[in-house]
This record gives sequence, structure tokens and C-alpha cells, in this order.
Amino acid sequence: MGDKPKLVAFGICFVHERTFAFNPDTVITVPIDPATGLPPDMGGDAGRAISRPICDVCIGKINPMRIKRGLDAIAPAGDQGS
Ligand SMILES: [Zn+2]
Repeated sequence: MGDKPKLVAFGICFVHERTFAFNPDTVITVPIDPATGLPPDMGGDAGRAISRPICDVCIGKINPMRIKRGLDAIAPAGDQGS
């Protein structure tokens, strides 16, 4: 008891393209160039990029690839479903 009520939103993870539940205050979003499907630090155009939500499961799958390429890991929000 005493926990603040959480907001729950549903959106589509841009990686696995399925609906997932998340807290809109803490969900991780990644800028994605809709023309290439890539974030600017992986070759997408920063000027066209729009923020897209990503689920914790996909963050866990993507981070090893980002680290291998010398990019920073994305920190998961930690309170999402998938
Ligand atoms: Zn996902």
C-alpha cells in the first residue's frame, strides 16, 4: 500500500512491431528515421527521426550489437511488460 498509481499505456515497439504495455513517464524512446528504420547513431537521418518506444526485451537484444559497434548501451526503463 502507499504506492502511487501508475499510468499504463500501450504502444508498438519499433523493433519487434508488437504491442506492449509501458509507463509513459518512463518508457525508453529512440529516435528513428522512418525512411531507413535506423537511429541517427546507426546511419539514420537525425532531421527526419521521430521518437519511437522500445520494449525492455528488445533493448536487451539490441545492446550487445550497439556495444560491438562502439555505441552506448540503451538503459532499459525496467517497468515494462512485453
Ligand atoms: Zn520490442
